[in-house]
Amino acid sequence: MLLVLALLVVFVAILVVQPWKMRGCRWRRDTRRLADGRVMFICMACGAQTALPKGREPKECLAGEQP
Ligand SMILES: [Zn+2]
Repeated sequence: MLLVLALLVVFVAILVVQPWKMRGCRWRRDTRRLADGRVMFICMACGAQTALPKGREPKECLAGEQP
């Protein structure tokens, strides 16, 4: 019974952390600033792009979410 509980905890932890979203993303800030004040980030590993408000940095990989 304890083993089942431990497996459940590990399962939930994996769902929360989502390690597959963090595979080797290296975000680089694009010097071009968007019109609404947000900053563009480009991933050097997978080429994904995202725009975030100033002062924030992307933490997870967006590979697979881009068309
Ligand atoms: Zn990436």
